[in-house]
Amino acid sequence: MSSIRAVAPAKINLSLRVRSLRPDGYHEITTVFHAVSLADEVTVSAAAAGVGRIVTTVGDRTASVPGGDDNIAGRAAVALARHAGLPDPDVTIDIAKAIPVAAGMAGGSADAAAALVALRRLWNLDVSDAVLSEIGAQLGSDVPFSLMGGTARGIGRGEVLTPVLTDGELHWVVALSDAELSTPAVYAEWDRLLADGLVSAAGDAADADAPLLAALRQGDPREVARHLVNDLEPAAASLRPHLRGVLDAGSELGALAGMVSGSGPTCVFLAEGREAAIALAAEMSGTGLVRGVRHAVGPASGARIVA
Ligand code: ATP
Repeated sequence: MSSIRAVAPAKINLSLRVRSLRPDGYHEITTVFHAVSLADEVTVSAAAAGVGRIVTTVGDRTASVPGGDDNIAGRAAVALARHAGLPDPDVTIDIAKAIPVAAGMAGGSADAAAALVALRRLWNLDVSDAVLSEIGAQLGSDVPFSLMGGTARGIGRGEVLTPVLTDGELHWVVALSDAELSTPAVYAEWDRLLADGLVSAAGDAADADAPLLAALRQGDPREVARHLVNDLEPAAASLRPHLRGVLDAGSELGALAGMVSGSGPTCVFLAEGREAAIALAAEMSGTGLVRGVRHAVGPASGARIVA
C-alpha cells in the first residue's frame, strides 16, 4: 500500500493534580485523561531515497508548527524505525490539523500517535501496542494516552495509564483562544505560584479522584461537573488573565462546569447533553471573548487507521 492514513484524538484532563517537581525536571502528576472527538489526521507514504522526513501541516494557525524532525511526527518516524532496526526513514507525513496548536489539548501528541500506528502498518512491523506506547512515551508524556484513547487515569508524567470505566457520552464546548501557551512555561509559572504560597502541591491521596471516577461510571454529567479539577488553571490564568473572563462567561451562560484544558489556553465547558452543548457553543461564540468554538464529544477512540 502506498499511503496509510490514521486519526488521533485531542484530550481533555478531567482531573489534573500537580505534585512534586522530579529530579528529571518533570512534575509528578495524577490525571484523568478523556479523549474527545476533535481529531488530527495523519497520512504517511514512502518517499524518495535520501529525502528524510518531510512533514507538512495544514489547518487553522499551523504556521508555528515545525516541519521535518522538529515535528513530533517526524521524530516518531525515526524512533519507530530505530526500534525496528531500520535505517532513518525516507517518508512524507501530511498532517491535517483540527486540534488547536499549543492549546493544552495534546495536538502534537495526537500527531505522534497517529504517525506511529500509520507507520507500523506502512512498514508492516510486528510491534505490539504496548511497545508502541513505550516508544510514544519517549516522544512525549501524552503520546501513550493519544494511542489508547477513551478515558484513563495517568500517573508519573501522565504516561503510566489505567483505563477508566465510563457510561454514556459527555458533551463539551471547546473555546479556542487567540493566544498560545507553552506547557513548560505554564509549569514554570505554577512553580513560581508555589514558591509564593499561592498554590499548593497535591498530596499523596490515591483516592482523591474517587468521586470523579464514580460519576464517570454513573454517566451523570452533573455529577462529573462537580468533580472536575485542574491544578494548572491558576498558572494558565496568571499568564493569560483574560481566561478568567472566558470561564465566567461559560458559567453565566449555563455550562455545568468550565475549566482550562490542561496547560491552556483552551477552555472547555461541560454541557448536559448534545443540544445544550450546541446552544452553549452558539452563545459562547456570540460573546466575542473567544476565537472560535467547537462541539466535542467524549470518550473518543485512540489513534487508529482509517480507510
Ligand atoms: P500538551 O497539551 O500535550 O502539553 P499542547 O496541546 O499545549 O500540548 P501542541 O499543540 O502539542 O501543544 O504543540 C506544542 C508545540 O510543539 C508547538 O508550539 C510546536 O512548536 C511543537 N510541535 C511539534 N510538532 C507538532 C505537531 N505535530 N503539532 C503541533 N505542534 C507541534
